[in-house]
Amino acid sequence: MPSPLSVTQLVDVIAAIPINLPDEAACLHCTGITTDTRNLQPGHLFLALRGENFDGHDFARVAIEKGAIAVITERRQEAQLNGVPQLQVENTLQAYQQIARWWRDQFNIPVIGVTGSVGKTTTKELIAAVLSTQGNVLKTQANYNNEIGVPKTLLELGSEHDYAVIEMAMRGSGQIAELTQIAHPTIGLITNVGTAHIGLLGSEEAIAKAKCELLAEMPDTSVAILNHDNQRLMNTAATVWQGQTLTYGLEGGDLHGRLLDSETLELEGMQFALPLPGRHNASNYLAALAVAKLLKVDWAHLTQGLKVELPSGRSRRYELPNDIVILDETYNAGLESMLAALHLLAQTPGKRHIAVLGTMKELGERSPEFHQQVGKTAQELNLDALVVLVDDSEAQAIATGAVPLLAECFSSHNAAVQRLLELVQPGDRLLFKASRSVGLDRIVNQFRAEY
Ligand code: ATP
Repeated sequence: MPSPLSVTQLVDVIAAIPINLPDEAACLHCTGITTDTRNLQPGHLFLALRGENFDGHDFARVAIEKGAIAVITERRQEAQLNGVPQLQVENTLQAYQQIARWWRDQFNIPVIGVTGSVGKTTTKELIAAVLSTQGNVLKTQANYNNEIGVPKTLLELGSEHDYAVIEMAMRGSGQIAELTQIAHPTIGLITNVGTAHIGLLGSEEAIAKAKCELLAEMPDTSVAILNHDNQRLMNTAATVWQGQTLTYGLEGGDLHGRLLDSETLELEGMQFALPLPGRHNASNYLAALAVAKLLKVDWAHLTQGLKVELPSGRSRRYELPNDIVILDETYNAGLESMLAALHLLAQTPGKRHIAVLGTMKELGERSPEFHQQVGKTAQELNLDALVVLVDDSEAQAIATGAVPLLAECFSSHNAAVQRLLELVQPGDRLLFKASRSVGLDRIVNQFRAEY
């Protein structure tokens, strides 16, 4: 929050009970709102959130010692607060969201909300890179894509920003609606509807509805950008959104892109060098080009050399001695992203193709079926070897699905690394992918260190 904010104004925005507010409170301004005392700067306002492990109220005193000019709390804490102004509310998380919503509405700039089952972070980064050719972009950092992260991001908005790209994640229904009401996107983009979190939501239909809350809740004047190639998304979107829509796809859509080769996309007579490898990333780039088209960013700037660095574990490529290449996709995995990564491996030119895979989590009762499908795809793509890190019967299902391709299964990270060190030959291509909690990144690091 680069411009100072009057504390009295905030009292109104969150309908707080003011405690110890001095008469000259109109002149009391904060330079930021912080929920974590480790990041607090003198002049900030401290907002006490209650989390699973910590209660921010326990840190109010520390906040004041570090120079907070006021605190927002749910409990009256006069005794501990040395007369520092306190804004008491019923629910501090709601207050945080109300402030963020109000603050966002002070800016008349394009705000792009991005959701989908997979590709949110990648597409957000691609959109930010595309818009950066034209102006200054605020974008979601790290995993700040939930009910706390979205407000935190929006509170970073300042007069220097020309665009904001806000990633929205969910683990259940109602959450995207809540985030949309806070961010008020002028453009709502849905990358796809798949099976991520199906164990929590129950069905693909429920996932589609939950993603499309973005459309249902955004202002009528906003524009939807949708992945034409995802039929379930298109069907569900049509039930909740009748406003302006721009579709993109590799199979059709208003913006119909064609892959000329693994590195080049053709769209409306222009050729674009893909910033990231793989058909799935071509789809993500099309989404970013759709945003560019809507916002009149000149495509001519986007044909070559757009640099995009994703957070670790996503589309990372490491080149080792002896022409060995590692595709590090260890950040996370669901069915669609596993299949996309296996295709990427198969399409990466090299001598042999080896997939090192582990469990995909949160897939509920369809988990064994999805794991077998992964194995079957590895076999159909004619991969040369499959190494599975088994921590449960579901990972074993990858091996079952892969028959007749022989999968070697290991129950410890170290055993898998030792086997890979024996197995690998010059010119090999290796893909590593599993859900984050499997910790496949440790195998990548150990393998790179020991090879
Ligand atoms: P999460 O919800 O887990 O944070 P996300 O939706 O932000 O994921 P990304 O982080 O962009 O997705 O990508 C995660 C992985 O999904 C990538 O490493 C890649 O393997 C795969 N992926 C990215 N985009 C797509 C896509 N459009 N279709 C299929 N898989 C994709």
